[in-house]
Amino acid sequence: MSLLEVQNLVVEFPGRRGTVRALDHISFDIAPGEILGVVGESGAGKSLTGAAIIGLLEPPGRIAGGQILLEGQRIDTLGEEAMRHIRGRRIGAIFQDPLTSLNPLYSVGRQLIETIQAHLPVGQAEARQRAVQLLKDTGIPAAEQRLDHYPHQFSGGMRQRVVIALALAAEPKLIVADEPTTALDVSIQAQIIMLLKNICRDRGAAVMLITHDMGVIAETCDRVAVMYAGRIAEIGPVHEVINHPAHPYTAGLMAAIPDIAQDRDILYQIDGAMPRPGAIPAGCAFHPRCPRAFDRCKAERPELLRAGATRAACWLHAGVVA
Ligand code: SF4
Ligand code: MG
Repeated sequence: MSLLEVQNLVVEFPGRRGTVRALDHISFDIAPGEILGVVGESGAGKSLTGAAIIGLLEPPGRIAGGQILLEGQRIDTLGEEAMRHIRGRRIGAIFQDPLTSLNPLYSVGRQLIETIQAHLPVGQAEARQRAVQLLKDTGIPAAEQRLDHYPHQFSGGMRQRVVIALALAAEPKLIVADEPTTALDVSIQAQIIMLLKNICRDRGAAVMLITHDMGVIAETCDRVAVMYAGRIAEIGPVHEVINHPAHPYTAGLMAAIPDIAQDRDILYQIDGAMPRPGAIPAGCAFHPRCPRAFDRCKAERPELLRAGATRAACWLHAGVVA
């Protein structure tokens, strides 16, 4: 069984000038222990997808269609109280800015111990021991002493390690990590990503890794979903998507990574900008920018179609190329 199933998810923002559809029938799943990358330009809907899954859509945003299942249980219809429990216990969240996840007034030890005890049936001594172990596992030196330190006493990179420890404290099966290294020094980013990958692998936790960085995806993920204008453009095994991109948008993203573009035969850059939600073109949302667009693309929206080992929302794979 899938760990997480997202089926035809629609997220809308009602406003004075009408309702804006920000996610338009998103479907994907995550297997136990799998690392799924979600990539795309900013505004593509990556963070919204993550927020919908963890029940933290900002109002007035709301789920207007589809469903989200965690281990077969529907979670998109749960109330805030039940969702808060799921967030701590079954889904851990890591955000770009460590300070949004940490309470500046409490020592990191207290935050870890409280999280452990809120979700797991362990006493104070064992919770403390687990907290020390988590800090050790996330590569924080002198873990025992660091327990009494406050978030501001850690560097940015160390703070994000603490956040990873906190997200893992209740042994969730899924971690949703939204741009977890973007706020950090470039030299530290790779370390943190590898730590996240390895520590989740060791614990059998699946990860949904949201990033705009295809290089990070290439090094970390099993599969990748490429998002464009609130939809999934392509999804498949990461090496397939990188080596044989089936969607012209994915191919354009690859061309923007010099190392990858050099090895492959991908030469073109994508002109133009991604449309805003509320101004999505009819048919294939990518057609105004697509170097391979043909008539059908302007009129009909492509669903995800089989394209080799991946699936791509592109009419080029319908066998009806004009
Ligand atoms: Fe390009 Fe048409 Fe494929 Fe859209 S459906 S990506 S416009 S070829
Ligand atoms: Mg984002």
